[in-house]
Amino acid sequence: MDIRNNIEFFRKQFAGKGCKLVAVSKTHPVEKVMEAYDAGQRIFGENKVQEMCAKQPALSSDIEWHLIGHLQTNKVKQVTPFVSLIHSVDSFKLLEEINKQGKKIGRTIPCLLQVFIANEETKFGFDERELIELIELNAIALLDYVNVVGLMGMATFTEDKNQVRKEFKSLKSLSDKIRKMNLPSNIEMKELSMGMSQDYEIAIEEGSTLVRIGTAIFGSR
Ligand SMILES: *Cc1c(COP(=O)(O)O)cnc(C)c1O
Repeated sequence: MDIRNNIEFFRKQFAGKGCKLVAVSKTHPVEKVMEAYDAGQRIFGENKVQEMCAKQPALSSDIEWHLIGHLQTNKVKQVTPFVSLIHSVDSFKLLEEINKQGKKIGRTIPCLLQVFIANEETKFGFDERELIELIELNAIALLDYVNVVGLMGMATFTEDKNQVRKEFKSLKSLSDKIRKMNLPSNIEMKELSMGMSQDYEIAIEEGSTLVRIGTAIFGSR
């Protein structure tokens, strides 16, 4: 894999589309992250707390680390000191813990709420109704050390492009719907994290602002 070439390819693909590349470096060693960094990449995504916490001190401090995988409440305090964005907040309980740990160190943590949009049983996330209800309850407003800046979703792993498009459209329309609600100051619907190596083109067409790409940059895992 020519990592530099791949980073440059995606930079061109995303140019002028209001979309940022999250280079998903999970399972790849620090040297590979460095190659992407040297090609100008600054946002990296990891799905495991332990791996992200091991890489972070070994690499440049101007890297933005995004946590994209399921987060257990007992691991939150390991990431709050440095994480730039948590994509995978899938329960109110988790959001409360992030708030608690953020408060302890005086750092407000940017988060995305993960929504279950796939036609599969294995993916985490809020369902649409649950999320609307949570926002209506206005409970997030009390969490001073959390900033909800958008939504994240993963489409079904399928060759059926229409299915994938339908799921991305549903996430976009949910974000538009929430934007019209009466929101507290710590909820903003500006980011939409959707798209991976196999479906990023559809995701961009459907309004993605953060595309999470691993395999197409670093090769297979
Ligand atoms: C691994 C992973 C990705 C990247 O997947 P690729 O198919 O390698 O591009 C994106 N998002 C999440 C949540 C992941 O766990």
